[in-house]
Amino acid sequence: MSSKMLKFVTTLKATPPKRDASKRVDDFDEIYDEFDLKTAKDQASRCSQCGVPFCQINCPLHNNIPDWLMLTAEGRMEEAYRLSSQTNNMPEICGRICPQDRLCEGSCVIEKGFESVTIGAVEKHITETAFDNGWVKPVTPAIERSESIGVIGAGPAGLTAAEMLRQKGYQLTIYDRYDRAGGLLIYGIPGFKLEKHVVERRQKLLEDGGVTFKLNTDIGTDITFEEIRAAHNAVLIATGVYKARDIKAPGSGLEGILPALDYLTASNRKSLGDKVAGFDSGMLNAEGKDVIVIGGGDTAMDCVRTAVRQKARSVSCLYRRDRANMPGSQREVANAEDEGVEFKWLSAPQAFIGDRRVSAVQVQRIHLGQVDATGRQVPQLIEDSSHELPADMVIKALGFDPEDIPVMFDETALTVSKWGTLSIDWHTMMTSLPGVFAAGDIVRGASLVVWGVRDGREAAEHIDQWIAAEAGIASAQAASA
Ligand code: FAD
Ligand code: SF4
Ligand code: SF4
Repeated sequence: MSSKMLKFVTTLKATPPKRDASKRVDDFDEIYDEFDLKTAKDQASRCSQCGVPFCQINCPLHNNIPDWLMLTAEGRMEEAYRLSSQTNNMPEICGRICPQDRLCEGSCVIEKGFESVTIGAVEKHITETAFDNGWVKPVTPAIERSESIGVIGAGPAGLTAAEMLRQKGYQLTIYDRYDRAGGLLIYGIPGFKLEKHVVERRQKLLEDGGVTFKLNTDIGTDITFEEIRAAHNAVLIATGVYKARDIKAPGSGLEGILPALDYLTASNRKSLGDKVAGFDSGMLNAEGKDVIVIGGGDTAMDCVRTAVRQKARSVSCLYRRDRANMPGSQREVANAEDEGVEFKWLSAPQAFIGDRRVSAVQVQRIHLGQVDATGRQVPQLIEDSSHELPADMVIKALGFDPEDIPVMFDETALTVSKWGTLSIDWHTMMTSLPGVFAAGDIVRGASLVVWGVRDGREAAEHIDQWIAAEAGIASAQAASA
């Protein structure tokens, strides 16, 4: 083993410098700076090069983490980049926004008493170094193939599949109803977690590699699904999940109560320089308001932190369980607290109060009761605990369900699960229609970018195999005719 490794005993864990909360709330730039080369090398050298690397096992992409950490520790950055990009199409994005505490870093088994290796930050450093040095190049297929693939959805799953298939020489067209590529990377996730030029850089690489983007194109409205199928040898559906879960409570239709994604999209568009009517009219702008965000996931964290940056008067987060039982990343909760967000744990909205516009939320306290079949304690309302919290903007961040894809695509032969996600054969990633594959959130339900990348890679592999098999069948038929 390289003598540069196993330094966790003498080198303390360090995370990239974080901008001070009082400064970072003034803009939408990323809050973490980057490691410099020396710190990246030092932090990578803390890895103990486990024989059975649990970090790698629990990374959805099974990234070869110990090897690229060793290459980084030895300063062999181009080799580190070549290795890390073999298994991940968006390492600089995953390095920024994977919930590492629940994935690779959460599984790092450095001896008890020492903290995990900062894997995500090193992954980001490797790829940013590669971009700075011009090592990241557009895909260059060895041969051009005549078969074409249509990808519906330019989020991480669709972009990844397109890159992998283009590398194999297929003709790729990505359709998206938005005017920009990236899916939730561009319009969902705020700039303070992921700056937008990072997403745009990926789109440009794909364009330079010969992938065609047809944006502002809603499949089911602008072009029928049938037309897409007729135009391509195979189709990948990677449309994500966008139907916001709602809340049933008196007053829930009052003005000033908004779905999270409308709010975040308006803010992201504004940061990208767009004119956003709803924002300029004040409807989607938290400035000067008492804001309450309902929910305990990453979307809720993004909403509270966006409201802080828009200079809301106060920002609170209502969640019906406690901190230990929330689905959002603990890192993001800590960042939100530093930025001045107040968390109201074990609290649930019962009604929204106001004449035309919301002016307050009636809230009841919660007690966590017995564990149910899902293994989680059931929230129970505490009697006589009702109270009002002033609010002139309420943001609902309660999660997302899939849109009705068979209706959207006017294709009843596409089968869905009981949750409305597209049913696929997991061995082939093919839907109930031959030659139509699916990947990402539309299959898994609301998930993570890294799973979208993994699905995109696997779908590309299966599409390639299916096209080869179809060609084999066609030539056998021709020969026997
Ligand atoms: P999406 O990214 O949703 O992309 C789907 C694309 O399909 C969209 O561009 C959409 O416009 C397009 N589309 C849909 N229907 C049609 C149609 N009919 N015609 C044409 N185009 C269509 N994950 C993390 O790992 N870390 C995070 O920090 C994180 N933060 C998040 C914050 C928020 C606010 C949200 C909402 C999600 C977050 N996620 C995070 C989850 C992550 O963004 C998603 O899991 C991931 O983007 C899913 O990728 P996808 O490609 O399946 O779908
Ligand atoms: Fe960790 Fe995500 Fe990178 Fe995998 S892709 S190594 S889980 S940061
Ligand atoms: Fe290195 Fe931690 Fe992975 Fe072990 S689990 S190989 S120490 S990063």
